[in-house]
Amino acid sequence: MNKTLELEHTYLELPSDLYSFLDESTYKHAELVRLNRELASELNVSPEYLTSDDGIRFLTGQTAHAPLFAQAYAGHQYGYFTMLGDGRAMVLGERVVGDRRYDLQLKGSGKTPYSRRGDGKATMESVLREYLISAAMHHLGVPTTRSLAVLKTGERVLREDIHDGAILVRVAQSHIRIGTFEYARGRGDLDLLRQLADYTIQRHVPALMEDNDKYLALFREVVRRQAELIAKWQSLGFVHGVMNTDNMLLSGETIDYGPCAFLDAYAPKTSFSSIDRNGRYAYFRQPFIASWNLSRLAGALVPLIHESETLAVQLLNKELELFATYYQTAYDRRMAYKIGIVEPSVTSRQLIEDLLELMEATNADFTNTFRHLTNGTTSALAFADSQAGRTWIKTWQHHLSTQTGHYDPTQLMRQHNPAIIPRNQLVDAVVKEAAKGDMKRFDALYDLLKTPYDHNRIYDMQYLEPLRPGESFVTYCGT
Ligand code: AMP
Ligand code: MG
Repeated sequence: MNKTLELEHTYLELPSDLYSFLDESTYKHAELVRLNRELASELNVSPEYLTSDDGIRFLTGQTAHAPLFAQAYAGHQYGYFTMLGDGRAMVLGERVVGDRRYDLQLKGSGKTPYSRRGDGKATMESVLREYLISAAMHHLGVPTTRSLAVLKTGERVLREDIHDGAILVRVAQSHIRIGTFEYARGRGDLDLLRQLADYTIQRHVPALMEDNDKYLALFREVVRRQAELIAKWQSLGFVHGVMNTDNMLLSGETIDYGPCAFLDAYAPKTSFSSIDRNGRYAYFRQPFIASWNLSRLAGALVPLIHESETLAVQLLNKELELFATYYQTAYDRRMAYKIGIVEPSVTSRQLIEDLLELMEATNADFTNTFRHLTNGTTSALAFADSQAGRTWIKTWQHHLSTQTGHYDPTQLMRQHNPAIIPRNQLVDAVVKEAAKGDMKRFDALYDLLKTPYDHNRIYDMQYLEPLRPGESFVTYCGT
């Protein structure tokens, strides 16, 4: 284990248009609130260092490890183009472990040249929420940015109320967003765009460097990763809530846990975010939005693809059209696993379609429905007593009995249907308690979310219960 932290800064080899250097922070009374020790080990960093005074200085951007910087980017927010950039984030550098490279970034570390009217800060509640949900997503098997640590800055942050200020130490394969490419394209500097694209290929899909059509191949790979990602979200009932193009990473990891939430009852039009009034980012729209966001990336890449704009657009469109196929294939596969079928077929697709229809009609809880199917507790299903429900169960069981091949459907379902997800109302409650200093229930939930596919564990009902019918849940963009 290394005692100190060696970081690289390859992003700074790119033209300086793409970032701004930042001064060291000055948090005299910062405290470490939580450290993800497993992640520290994965990063080959000793927890002893990170919990020492030097480590805490490092984790709050008061470091001799300069240079520190904020990244420039733009983005389409709710459909409209805006100039953005890290308004409250600071990149410490890149940690290289074997052939992997991770950005270490602080969120909530103070103002930057891109802060606009923001204060550059983050509240303890929002940071604890991201710490919890990003860990849950990771353990659910969804590609995601991860959270190394939560620190209390000792400052106060003014929102509707006064909050404790906090820093989240975020780890990502990179922070290159669709919005980063929109920004580079917007600069009107072809060389800048090309350098960013080369850097991205080198960092995420180095094998493509030799490809004759490497930029088109990069786009294809990003399309594929996004399709796989969104299929995973859908199969778990995850609603991101703010799929602006600045919140979509080319690495294919989920980023930015603001107003996200998980479905309780299966209602595809659900959107939880208080500011998403038109339901732009509702559950059922997520694949379409991802595809739309990718069309923004395509737009940014046009000049790199072909001298003829018409031809470039045609070539990119052909790749973009593949999103629907990649997505449908990934979704069908994941949903088939959820009902114990290893190879998707016309029948499995029909079974899923009918099941979702039944779930919607009976307000069935998304996670618990699949949990009951996994555990064989079909009498507990919301639609168990209806004629249509009984018919579905019979047809499904019959179909399972016809499945040949050497696999165990129950095992397959156990691997793909979580016993536990972060229930929205519980997350809210434990995060509020934790922000006030009582970490007991927060830690208990965090611990349970590390093994979401453990169906042998006995869970307290509070972890499994959805909202009751009539109750609703809204997320506020608490930042
Ligand atoms: P988000 O909705 O979290 O993706 O943020 C959108 C943009 O607003 C990003 O450029 C953020 O850096 C910026 N931002 C959000 N909150 C703050 C804040 N408190 N201070 C400065 N910038 C912020
Ligand atoms: Mg963001």
